[in-house]
Amino acid sequence: MKLVRYGKRGAEKPGMIDDQGQLRDLSGLIADIGWNELSNTGREKLRNLRPASLPRVSGQPRLGVPFTGISKFLGIGLNYRDHAEETGMPIPGEPILFMKATTCISGPFDPVLLPPGSQKTDWEVELGIVIGNEARRVSETQSLQHIAGYCVINDVSERAYQLERGGQWDKGKGCDSFGPIGPWLVTRDEIPDPQNLRLWLEVNGESMQQGSTSKMIFGCAEIVSYLSRFVTLLPGDVIATGTPPGVGMGRKPPRFLKAGDTMRLGIDGLGEQRQLVTETRSQA
Ligand code: ZN
Repeated sequence: MKLVRYGKRGAEKPGMIDDQGQLRDLSGLIADIGWNELSNTGREKLRNLRPASLPRVSGQPRLGVPFTGISKFLGIGLNYRDHAEETGMPIPGEPILFMKATTCISGPFDPVLLPPGSQKTDWEVELGIVIGNEARRVSETQSLQHIAGYCVINDVSERAYQLERGGQWDKGKGCDSFGPIGPWLVTRDEIPDPQNLRLWLEVNGESMQQGSTSKMIFGCAEIVSYLSRFVTLLPGDVIATGTPPGVGMGRKPPRFLKAGDTMRLGIDGLGEQRQLVTETRSQA
């Protein structure tokens, strides 16, 4: 299933994409796509629906984040060997964990806002894991059972804030609009092998990132099991699993985002995002 939420920001309705790619309205059946719907039993109920029996949604409404109830947005750093090499940082022996503020989350086609004065805002296409059932110290063999599904994430990052301001990476990872998620939540049953998906990203039509989740150092099952030893993962929690090579910081010379740039990014079977980069307007 491809689950979506559509409509104005803060007033999204639940929906589903049918086999023909048509948006169908779920709001007559469920209030939203949250903890209950993400769980193994909740997804099973939705799977029994006939999408053709649901009302079609006309027009091209905005798509929001495809689920709600996100208590944590976790990121794994340097999880592709070739990306670690382009950053000049050592290959990690254990997964590197950082947090993205939940206030950075935005829809897959919403603009990305440059922080005022930003010189080094960068792109990162990533496979997102969405938790469906609570996970606390789960084994690697059990951990996939706790995943609701997968989505595309752009782990937008301000490199000066991330790497030149002291302490941890989080300062450069959680600015408003730095977490586009979607367009769809694709349920786990449709992605039998999350370690064999092609990822790509382009800026203004020029290819920047090309990769495969087969190159991840720590795979999805290991990541969920590993993180669940340190924190309890709740339904709706999102994990950005790392980016393949081709980020702006790794280019020679480095290249960062400017107002007016457009990013397009996608992952096989999980859809595409597109964001226009804009200046943050003064709130004075
Ligand atoms: Zn990342």
